[in-house]
Amino acid sequence: ITVPKTKQELLEKRKDIIGSTCQIFYKDDPLLVSKASMQYLYDETSRKYLDCISNVQHVGHCHPTVVSSISNQLANSTCNVRFVSPVLTECAEQILATLPGMDTVIFVNSGSEANDLALRLSRDYTKHFDAIVVDHAYHGHVTTTMQMSPYKFDHGCTIAQPEWVHVTPCPDVFRGKHRLPDELLHNEAALADKSIQYSDEVKHIIQKAEASGRGIAMFISEALQSCGGQVLPPKGYFQDVARHVRAHGGLVVIDEVQTGYGRVGSKFWAHQMYEDGFVPDIVTMGKPMGNGFPVSAVVTKKSITDKLGGAVGYFNTYGGNPVACSAVLGVLKVIREENLLEHSQKMGEIFAVQLNKLKADHPVIGDVRGVGLFWGLDLIKDKTTREPHVELAAKLILKARQELGVLLSCDGPHSNIIKMKPPLCFNEENLHETVAAIDRALTELGY
Ligand code: PMP
Repeated sequence: ITVPKTKQELLEKRKDIIGSTCQIFYKDDPLLVSKASMQYLYDETSRKYLDCISNVQHVGHCHPTVVSSISNQLANSTCNVRFVSPVLTECAEQILATLPGMDTVIFVNSGSEANDLALRLSRDYTKHFDAIVVDHAYHGHVTTTMQMSPYKFDHGCTIAQPEWVHVTPCPDVFRGKHRLPDELLHNEAALADKSIQYSDEVKHIIQKAEASGRGIAMFISEALQSCGGQVLPPKGYFQDVARHVRAHGGLVVIDEVQTGYGRVGSKFWAHQMYEDGFVPDIVTMGKPMGNGFPVSAVVTKKSITDKLGGAVGYFNTYGGNPVACSAVLGVLKVIREENLLEHSQKMGEIFAVQLNKLKADHPVIGDVRGVGLFWGLDLIKDKTTREPHVELAAKLILKARQELGVLLSCDGPHSNIIKMKPPLCFNEENLHETVAAIDRALTELGY
């Protein structure tokens, strides 16, 4: 066996022995990470990059508190959830303290597993079978969650939309079915109107499904659509949707896999952001909760989990293992000790000002959307049609990385949304550096 050393050798080896369709960042010039620390990555030449991509390493790459929490437990015991562990219950209690109205946790290992389990819980509880999903949504890579992800099944994969999945338009007032003109994008009354139009779409889907003898087990959505285009649904949308869904015996599941744990700043969970009293029936979570250690969870009510799986019970080999729970406890401790919600909120307020200034200077930025440390720039070719500027997004992120040392990503159904979702330790100086990098890259690219 030869041990590859250079980046080129590693890439060739990877091409040889790793699944050819496994995604890679910057495929024209992938990044070899030789070290990661807080909001920075270092390549094989020790070049430092500001990381605006890694929302999973939520409190900072290799944060010492999380590292010691994980390693101490790793050296103590790794037994599965069928043994009694104080770390498991402590972790569940701390998570439940952030979710009033919920009383039960089931730990799993990935966002996909959490959403798959949410579907099973909903079906077992409601005795209905179908799911309503939001257009462009992504809920995971396992078969059922791919079936619930228009982000995948609408884009050339072999999994098709099954008859039990119904797609409601994404509540996107910028480029969705029910749009607002630029001058009304932040107008409360206009947004309230759109909210009703979008939630009525869900009502009509339920009525149509029932007319053909089908029942809705769950409506699932992110509180703020991430992969699907950085979309903030208008205030009131989830309240209205929940009313329609519950009136017909279904449950409301909020996927907080990307948006939870203080990313939105003002609140621990994105669905709490509007302070309108909306409480989902099930919340799924993942990515940030382990700071890179694989752990995720489904949080709901005892009345729902009690109905799961008949007599066979639930078991998941790694779900809720004490090492995973220790990672979560480490993350929660850092969030508390470093006041990361407050920090994320403050950074969000500065981002809003700076990115809107950037928009005023570069008409190619059609819309600026975000909160806390979660932002998107919608690049457009034309102000009236809002046609997505796909090629520019790819050029911009490559230039920012190669020439300016800032790591950005792009996403959305057209891959034209520039995304910023850095670890929460990202500071004001980092923020100005990022905005300046985008400004310079757009200017040099002729925009
Ligand atoms: N839900 C959302 C909103 C996600 O963004 C993702 C991952 N991108 C998932 C679910 C799936 O999570 P995982 O990759 O951990 O299975």
